[in-house]
Amino acid sequence: MVEVLESPPEFKKLRVPEEGEKITVRDGRLAVPDEPIVVYIEGDGIGPQIVSQARAVIDAAVEKVYGGKRRIVWWEAYAGEKAMKEYGELLPEDTILAIRYSVVALKGPLTTPVGTGFRSLNVALRKKLDLYANIRPVQFFGQPSPHKYAEHDNFVIFRENTEDLYAGIEWRADSPEAQKIREFLKKEFGIELREDAGIGIKPISKFGTQRLMRKALQYAIDNNRGPVTIMHKGNIMKYTEGAFREWAYELAVTEFRDYVVTEEELWEKYNGQLPEGKILVNDRIADNMLQQIITRPWDYDVIVAPNVNGDYISDEANALVGGIGMAAGMNAGDYMALAEPVHGTAPKYAGKDVANPTAEILSGCLLLEYIGWKEASEVIKKAIREAITGKKVTQDLARHMPGVEPLKASEYTQVLIDIIRRG
Ligand code: NAP
Repeated sequence: MVEVLESPPEFKKLRVPEEGEKITVRDGRLAVPDEPIVVYIEGDGIGPQIVSQARAVIDAAVEKVYGGKRRIVWWEAYAGEKAMKEYGELLPEDTILAIRYSVVALKGPLTTPVGTGFRSLNVALRKKLDLYANIRPVQFFGQPSPHKYAEHDNFVIFRENTEDLYAGIEWRADSPEAQKIREFLKKEFGIELREDAGIGIKPISKFGTQRLMRKALQYAIDNNRGPVTIMHKGNIMKYTEGAFREWAYELAVTEFRDYVVTEEELWEKYNGQLPEGKILVNDRIADNMLQQIITRPWDYDVIVAPNVNGDYISDEANALVGGIGMAAGMNAGDYMALAEPVHGTAPKYAGKDVANPTAEILSGCLLLEYIGWKEASEVIKKAIREAITGKKVTQDLARHMPGVEPLKASEYTQVLIDIIRRG
């Protein structure tokens, strides 16, 4: 586990803001002061535009809801091109230390550099901070959607971020490592793989599964949501995805016994009627579920999935509600959290004031909810709904709305701020 820093570390260049206070961890929970220091990273491409617009909207909502009693003290840290200019490297240690100190951060998208040691800066950040849960809410705000039941699309997906086939443990078919593994399997277990087979390893651990499930259940409790559905392909991959299912249930009925009823218990003890105040924990096989969020979205709410399933279902779910300009995300560890949109740097829109800032703004909403400022998040979501249903949208949405003139991103941002201020 990567520890939260309780006192300021030695920074090479950054300086902790003189105003505001850091978020701390007390008795296993975040203790959030009225003026928390929150790190932001602008990112590359459209990042600087959408991050500054997101900060403006968040500030307006916090001001409106708490009337000056609360305020975010933003603290800039660097990654990507801006870090290259400031530090001569893409991901300076200062940035990691700043997030470990401030606990939460808002980030813009980063270009994945080609031909460097990093597979991706984003992956490097998640690894260095051990942000094991990728949390992706999917919500319909009235935007153009290809889904007949879009108004029922309201899910929060908890995707495991560190294990599974995405752990990066794989070898080319013609590599000596793959050759060695093929020989080992043949000699030790009598398993014959084709000579031209590439090999990938799919690790799924009890530790990794249960810390994710713990986060999802705590989220469901804190936000009054449910059911919590475990998505897996355990009928085929018994000791990885099947075990994911078992370990997730095990955690639910041991650590959250007072809060949950499993699907089995629902029928055995409660005649199919969920008792008042309890959260249903059930499971579904992945392929079935990929269909059912389209055919019966009302049956799903919080979804917990291993890395690969989580990737597929979150992209599918976001497509149902109109795509990437609206898709928010947050990577969280035990305490630290880094909110960022699902989309990338959209280089062709950089500096043009046309990229939709909503995904970045909604990522900010996740951060607000994470620190317990839910009222401010609600005000922002209400403004987004009002703007979209009033046809005040950026070009990505306007092009699917016949007769609607697109707003510039800055105009759209101002619309949101005006709605928020008006109340
Ligand atoms: P992308 O940046 O997400 O852009 C793909 C397309 O999605 C854009 O051309 C645009 O579609 C649409 N789009 C994305 N964001 C939008 C927004 N805010 N408003 C309106 N439309 C938006 O994906 P990419 O082109 O594959 O990747 C570009 C760079 O971003 C790469 O270096 C990649 O590695 C990086 N990346 C970073 C992250 C991250 O930081 N977490 C995530 C993904 C990718 P239209 O052309 O149809 O208008």
